[in-house]
Amino acid sequence: MSRKIIIGNWKMNPSSLKQAEDLFRSIQKSVSSKIKSNVIICPPALYLERLKKISKKVALGAQNVFFEEKGAYTGEISAEMLFNIGIKYVILGHSERRTLGETNSDINKKIKMALSFNIIPILCIGESERNESHDYLNFIKKQIEECLSGIIKNSISKIIIAYEPIWAIGKDAKRQANPEEFREMRIFIRKILSDKFGAKNVEKVKIIYGGSVNKENVVEFLKENADGFLIGRHSLDTKKFVEIIKICEV
Ligand code: PEP
Repeated sequence: MSRKIIIGNWKMNPSSLKQAEDLFRSIQKSVSSKIKSNVIICPPALYLERLKKISKKVALGAQNVFFEEKGAYTGEISAEMLFNIGIKYVILGHSERRTLGETNSDINKKIKMALSFNIIPILCIGESERNESHDYLNFIKKQIEECLSGIIKNSISKIIIAYEPIWAIGKDAKRQANPEEFREMRIFIRKILSDKFGAKNVEKVKIIYGGSVNKENVVEFLKENADGFLIGRHSLDTKKFVEIIKICEV
């Protein structure tokens, strides 16, 4: 099996640096020294610099970055700032940020800015609902095309795509996605990418799954060739998170 990417999105948790450090240390300690998977924790930005200093087997990513390089942008964090503390990954276009008003065009600019500082974008896409007329396929196609507009062909393999159906995310999820739904979407996403960037250039693009991932359903998604997972709630619990990592290792 190929090397999996397992990303923990801590969102706006935990509430102190001490708790963040304890959680990060306990995850890192529980991960085998021979780990093959690429484990990335995305904590609140405030904790990144400190956690980066103690990071060995587990890498760090940001949960957002701004699309301008520098200047009068109150409250924003630049790609250069992340680069300067050694951050290599950034989640972009998470549905919770899209709900706050982030558009495909914003995400597109953020992807370009991240890439210009050699930071790997983890691009989240996903529909909020499905219906009989399969409109969600057009919705996903539009998200991909607009978020990746103007990205040069040899940059596409650097981008990780996280398919996260919104209806399957978080404690208010309507239901879990089934692995067949992921398989359909994985094939569809690869087809859109191939049409846009050429089959050869997208061979190495990783398509991961996110939405209520747990130790019970992870094997089924792996059977459908998920390249890894984006995990919310269970990344805040060392035991549950490490169980998922271990399943991805076999
Ligand atoms: C998410 O919010 O990206 C997510 C996948 O959350 P959860 O694992 O809690 O469903």
